[in-house]
Amino acid sequence: MLQRVAVEEKYLEDYRPIVGGEVLEEIQRLARGLKDARIVHINATAFGGGVAEILMTLIPLMRDVGLDAEWQIIEGSDEFFNVTKASHNGLQGMEIPLTEEMKAIWRRYNEHNAKLLEGEYDYIIVHDPQPAGLLHYHGRSGGKHWIWRCHIDTSHPNPDYWDFYAPYIDIYEAAVFTMEQYVGPGVEFEHLAIVPPTIDPLSPKNAPIPTEEAQEVVSGFGIDLARPLITQVSRFDPWKDPMGVIDAYRLVKAEISEVQLALVGSMASDDPEGWYFLDKTSRHAGEDDDIHILHNFHGVGGYEVGCFQTASDVVIQKSTREGFGLVVTEGLWKGKPVIGGNVGGIPLQVIDGKTGFLVDTIEACAEKTLYLLQHPDESRIMGEGAHEHVRKNFLITRHLRDYLDLFNKMK
Ligand code: UDP
Repeated sequence: MLQRVAVEEKYLEDYRPIVGGEVLEEIQRLARGLKDARIVHINATAFGGGVAEILMTLIPLMRDVGLDAEWQIIEGSDEFFNVTKASHNGLQGMEIPLTEEMKAIWRRYNEHNAKLLEGEYDYIIVHDPQPAGLLHYHGRSGGKHWIWRCHIDTSHPNPDYWDFYAPYIDIYEAAVFTMEQYVGPGVEFEHLAIVPPTIDPLSPKNAPIPTEEAQEVVSGFGIDLARPLITQVSRFDPWKDPMGVIDAYRLVKAEISEVQLALVGSMASDDPEGWYFLDKTSRHAGEDDDIHILHNFHGVGGYEVGCFQTASDVVIQKSTREGFGLVVTEGLWKGKPVIGGNVGGIPLQVIDGKTGFLVDTIEACAEKTLYLLQHPDESRIMGEGAHEHVRKNFLITRHLRDYLDLFNKMK
């Protein structure tokens, strides 16, 4: 059996004050024809990264509207996750080799996990490249409808990787991508849904945290909130460009010497590269006591991430590739204009000059950071627009609706 992930109970009704009655009614209407539909979401990790974050809320809400939904994770080991991490990078366009040995490891683990998949389902949703081979190895039995959900930016993939994965992906009846341009060559689906991810406005990370409370928590990590704070929350990953953030911070520091930087990142269990890249980032930070590098082993969990986003003067997400960037959504939701890399799903969220700034270079990132630090009133007004943009477009209720809509279309 694949390992099941336990989730808390959540209730759609609790979202009414935030999203309004109409949204809830539409969800109930779409759920009516799907009562007791057996749904399983399968991904690689129960913790760390955006997919786990979404499933933690999506599964309970699917249950609350009457679906029989569950979440299972595949088995892996360092050798497998090294391959899948390389695949994540390759599919996002990195120039790295894909050897026959790597392919064999990926196939072996997918074949093994396919054997562990038990039960009968109406909809099996396989998330991301790690378990994408499940359908190929398992065969259609056990699942009436198979859906592949891609969370990464596959708009400019390394062809070696894309060509390897495409035949495994192409056989799914439906696929869900974050953006139209992520659908690569050589794959065609009976149903294609474009669904940008979303956040849960009621999670400990995203429910409103009073500023003073957030400040107290952040101060506990040695940060002086009498001085300005810039934060980036991300896994330690080259595409998140923490080094570039440090360089931008240094340019800002040359103008405002008291500025501080927090780089907050969780170490996901399917990301062996994370530790290596964390060391590299620490070396780049050097002896600067105003750079704070923190992760979940320091006790920075979801709530603390929310505190950092709430208490920061400027939130940055300087990614150079980004499937969507839930951290951007989270920052905007906290009423912060976000300075984001002009890539992937970030421009869906950061409307340049309105909900934040889109930047292509370290210099532009520093310039916009300085601008926001020096114009707090404007920053606050942009932040209000940012919050509203998320409320309308990027809350979990919309995500739930989109899945129900797809399930209905596939019936
Ligand atoms: N996250 C977290 N703690 C951290 C770093 C990240 O809880 O120290 C969460 C973050 O708040 C967000 C998710 O992990 O909800 C990252 O999702 P995103 O889409 O930004 O990036 P991914 O890691 O999936 O590439």
